[in-house]
Amino acid sequence: MLVMSLNAPRGVLVPEERPLPQPGPGELRVKVHACAVCRTDLHVMDDELPGVRHPLVPGHEIVGVVDARGPGTSAPVGMRVGIPWLGYTCGRCEHCRGDRENLCDHARFTGYQIDGGYAEYTVADERFCLALPREPDDAHAAPLLCAGLIGYRALSMTGDAPRLGLYGFGAAAHIVAQLARHQGREVYAFVRRGDEAATQFAMRLGCTWAGEAGVRPPRALDAAIIFAPAGELVPVALDAVRKGGTVVCGGIHMSDIPSFPYAKLWGERVLRSVANLTRRDGEEFLRLAPQVPIHTEVRTWPLTAANEALAALRSGTVAGAAVLVPGHAAG
Ligand SMILES: [Zn+2]
Ligand SMILES: [Zn+2]
Repeated sequence: MLVMSLNAPRGVLVPEERPLPQPGPGELRVKVHACAVCRTDLHVMDDELPGVRHPLVPGHEIVGVVDARGPGTSAPVGMRVGIPWLGYTCGRCEHCRGDRENLCDHARFTGYQIDGGYAEYTVADERFCLALPREPDDAHAAPLLCAGLIGYRALSMTGDAPRLGLYGFGAAAHIVAQLARHQGREVYAFVRRGDEAATQFAMRLGCTWAGEAGVRPPRALDAAIIFAPAGELVPVALDAVRKGGTVVCGGIHMSDIPSFPYAKLWGERVLRSVANLTRRDGEEFLRLAPQVPIHTEVRTWPLTAANEALAALRSGTVAGAAVLVPGHAAG
């Protein structure tokens, strides 16, 4: 099978032929139909997360079908499944026992500690595979597995805030905007300076307002989620939320947050991060997605063009989500 392998820190992905992996006890082998490209993959490539091993097959927004079953599994061959970032938890630590498996001390993550979906086949622990709704199709479902899931978890952390700001209008924000609109919230989109395409994209998805990140929105926000990995947005977002409002940092990595006057946090503003996902987040969100319904905007690349897809994500030229489709031409 073909995989795209990261063989050194800050390297490029190299196409390699490998033998088909055999599923062990409790594991499923999945034929990958689509794998979305996440900003976290760039952090893995750039060695910005601790302990990235090499060689590694990245990719943690996987849609595919069960192709072979290890001992003790129950999913039928041919079943469509999603494989998200959370690939293993211990079930014993205080976080696992406290219903916070996203914080498990011994968690392992797909496309980070476990080879992921930039491949024709992958192997996953059945307990962490998610059943997918019938719609949408594979390429459009793939971004739901991280951009959607983490976005959903981040949105949950804002409570019922009626006026919501989204900083960085990429894959996660374009899904959260649809979910928030469905819940009757107003959405304010903050885009890069001069990014007219992102502004129009946000307005097309029903946002109330779209503008540059540094600009104060026309009304104070009740909450904001920062998806861009830019620490300088933290004081900017705190400025934009009202007293008692919440700012959620939705990414796994962020550049340093500059120091700022305490007055920006004063007034019981809350600043928090969101880490990973629980399986319950996955089940809840995937039930909700077809009800909205969420339409993901995707641009597809063949698996062998993973480096090009990552470069496009890095340069901010992808509207919505970038998705790798094994065996397909670019579209
Ligand atoms: Zn991700
Ligand atoms: Zn644990």
